[in-house]
Amino acid sequence: MTYLPIFASLRGQPCLVVGGGAVAERKALQLVAAGARVTVNAPGLSPALEAAHADGRIDVARRPFDATLVPLQLLVIAATSDPAVNRAVAEAARAALRLCNVVDDPAASTWISPSVVDRSPLLIAVSSGGQAPVLARLVRQRLERWLPARLAVLADWAGSWRERVKVALPDVTARRRLWEDVLAGVLDARTGPAQAVIDGRTAEADAALLRRLGEQDNPGVTRGEAWLVGAGPGDPGLITASGLHCLQHADVVLHDRLVAPALLTFARRDAELIDVGKTGGGAATSQGHINELLIDRVRAGLRVCRLKGGDPYVFGRGSEEALALAAAGLPFRVIPGVTAASGCGAFAGIPLTHRHGAHAVTFVTAHLGAGPDATGPDAPGAEPDWRAIAALGQTLVVYMAGRRLAAVSEALRRHGRPADTPAAVVMGGTTDDQRVVSGTLGDIAAAAAAAGVSSPAILYVGDVVALREGLDWFRPAAPYNPPTSGALR
Ligand code: SAH
Repeated sequence: MTYLPIFASLRGQPCLVVGGGAVAERKALQLVAAGARVTVNAPGLSPALEAAHADGRIDVARRPFDATLVPLQLLVIAATSDPAVNRAVAEAARAALRLCNVVDDPAASTWISPSVVDRSPLLIAVSSGGQAPVLARLVRQRLERWLPARLAVLADWAGSWRERVKVALPDVTARRRLWEDVLAGVLDARTGPAQAVIDGRTAEADAALLRRLGEQDNPGVTRGEAWLVGAGPGDPGLITASGLHCLQHADVVLHDRLVAPALLTFARRDAELIDVGKTGGGAATSQGHINELLIDRVRAGLRVCRLKGGDPYVFGRGSEEALALAAAGLPFRVIPGVTAASGCGAFAGIPLTHRHGAHAVTFVTAHLGAGPDATGPDAPGAEPDWRAIAALGQTLVVYMAGRRLAAVSEALRRHGRPADTPAAVVMGGTTDDQRVVSGTLGDIAAAAAAAGVSSPAILYVGDVVALREGLDWFRPAAPYNPPTSGALR
């Protein structure tokens, strides 16, 4: 962070505005609105500042910039049109350890004022750190549109219930959940008791809240639950709306290695994040241990988001986790995700089906019983039935194909799929690291080896791969290098 956002209480605090024009006027009146004791230091004042002085809202030091005023202030604003004077103000403030804002000059400032969405007592401050004020303004305008105008009424209503709810629900977690349930509806769907408050139907909202409090059969105990959530194949935008909602509300997030780091920033700040990532072949948290963690946290009354790459029920062992939860008698929900086959296909220009000749698609894993604790019929080393899979023809998508490209393509050819069948390997699909190597079933393993196979990798086989030529729309973003000033000229 280049700045620490704070909300400062200026009530009764001395603040100095240097300058008497329109900008100084705006700044001074803002400070007055926040309750500050404002001194305006300038040889001449705008009419509005004169008026504010006349009715005692501001003090005036009617002379050129007077550095002796600076050490007496909490905050200083330099708002003259003369850069030399503004610099002198900043210098005096630095010497006196006062926070100083120089209007339109973030580099010379020790504080800057954000763009504000005011739904007092709810205040949202947005800043681009002086880099892109227009971006900050656009974000503010979006928020203005998104937040109901009467949110203040809602905050007051919630405030009036706060103490009573505290007494009725001594458990903090239970209380947080109640407020989440009651308040979230208004932002997500403009429904529920909170919306009733906003619409002026307060009695209805009160009744709903009382009902909710009555429903807490045992207010001291909170019920845990597991949510198996598909995070999608890589691009953080590919999680579903329900998945994101779960992630934002969970007490605990157990996540895979393939889950986009950007997604984890949506978790609550106080949520426990546990990386149970299985690295291909390397150190891994065993499935048994993951199941234990899940059950343990849910039993403790926590809401656990088990965030899994792609879709939880496609080669993700989500079924094993769900079975373990069911066996333990614990409640769970499953939120599907975009699986790698469709996500990477979309981003690599490979449709899974096509009206002319691709009427079926098969998902298969190149590894059976992968993982350290696999036993039984699918133990490591067991092979999928390549004969049956090759006989299906049409579109074939092979997961966990990276290290086994040569063996898989050879097995498919041996069992009758022509060597000239189009094939492609997608690595790091849907992310900025996406790479695609294409060829035929006969040469794809060699081509991928030559290009260097990275993980995760998925193999596509079938005529649909040839459509890539016209459908390859995605360009991974290159790291941004700002142009040099020379290039700008
Ligand atoms: N549940 C996941 C699959 C987990 S198995 C899903 O539905 O997608 C892991 C395999 O998925 C990897 O070995 C790879 O074959 C494939 N995979 C997942 N994400 C991928 C990505 N971004 N690019 C390419 N392959 C990916």
